[in-house]
Amino acid sequence: MSQPNHPLVLVTGGSGFIAVHVILKLLEQGYRVRATLRTMSRQDEVRAMLMSGGLTNLEALSFIQADLSSDQNWDAAVQGTDYVIQVASPTPNKVYKDENEMIQPAREGVLRVLRAARDAGVKRVVLTSAFGAIGVGHINHKGPYTEEDWSNTDANIHPYQKSKTIAEIAAWDFIRQEGHGLELATVNPVGVMGPILGHDYSHSNESVRQMIEGKMKAVPKIYSDYVDVRDVADLHLLAMLRPEANGQRFIASSAENLSMLEIARILRKHLGEDAKLAPRREHPNIVVRTLAIFNPKLKMIASLLGQDMSTSNQKAKRLLGWTPRSAEEAIAATGRSMVDIIKGQMK
Ligand code: NAP
Repeated sequence: MSQPNHPLVLVTGGSGFIAVHVILKLLEQGYRVRATLRTMSRQDEVRAMLMSGGLTNLEALSFIQADLSSDQNWDAAVQGTDYVIQVASPTPNKVYKDENEMIQPAREGVLRVLRAARDAGVKRVVLTSAFGAIGVGHINHKGPYTEEDWSNTDANIHPYQKSKTIAEIAAWDFIRQEGHGLELATVNPVGVMGPILGHDYSHSNESVRQMIEGKMKAVPKIYSDYVDVRDVADLHLLAMLRPEANGQRFIASSAENLSMLEIARILRKHLGEDAKLAPRREHPNIVVRTLAIFNPKLKMIASLLGQDMSTSNQKAKRLLGWTPRSAEEAIAATGRSMVDIIKGQMK
């Protein structure tokens, strides 16, 4: 049970898939949480997601309106907080006409949050970055990506991945040049799966929905790493608290490289009849590249064909004692939540 003197943590983008799981862990562990929302009318939805995650008492949770694209309220949002977890960022849920519609809020939003945190005397900011800031835009990369790697923004990479890379670089530059002692750690998740607590789920779960509904008859030949959202939340808390996490990036990954066909197989294994429409064949790369010319939603997928996106999770395990679940467990949990959403059983 949280007390008035327990540390206060600001979580930005409190309505998001990952942020809700971070808030859930923080409240479970007795922290007080202030969450930013772009739209304050979503408060009840966030409370409902936390209750469906098992919480019964939300007295230690409060909300404040803030948008990454505006200076308004950020000083008030960080006031009195011990830590800030900066999760909010434009994600590929919708198609943007211009890459700057993603890049500007991502970069400037991070800088707004860091400036406000520094001025308010916050101890540490944890930034939710992404694998997209680590391992894209490289040709013929050998071996798993590590925290030493950075995506190549000069290559023709997707605006989302560019936005994450540019925002993270800006964050580290800020800490070096004008942080005045503010601490920073980043968590860089690969594809995040796991239990969905409400109807507004992340882009990373969308392919599971399409597989279950039979809308994906065949899959692109993409090999990716996955991680469970509960483990991503745990890693945020470790990165926030552990002295050795200061100044470090951490890849959040189960470090198992799976094809999309393997995801479909896992769904069939765990969901039985509910996943009977999951795909059983792969598209040739040429088909996906051609479709992406006409369908902007496929552009990111097409840019990942033939890429080795395997990652190492050794740093988080070694330095912080982080113990992620398997990719299979994460994917099966997404599948079960998605079936509840599709059947209308999710409140
Ligand atoms: P999500 O469910 O779409 O959440 C995104 C959150 O960011 C939402 O709360 C959204 O608010 C907020 N947001 C977007 N633009 C904003 C703006 N201009 N001002 C204020 N808030 C804004 O996605 P998610 O998967 O949880 O992603 C959370 C973070 O994890 C992001 O930084 C993302 O890049 C990172 N990440 C995700 C994955 C993944 O596989 N899911 C992998 C690596 C990294 P609204 O509800 O108002 O739209």
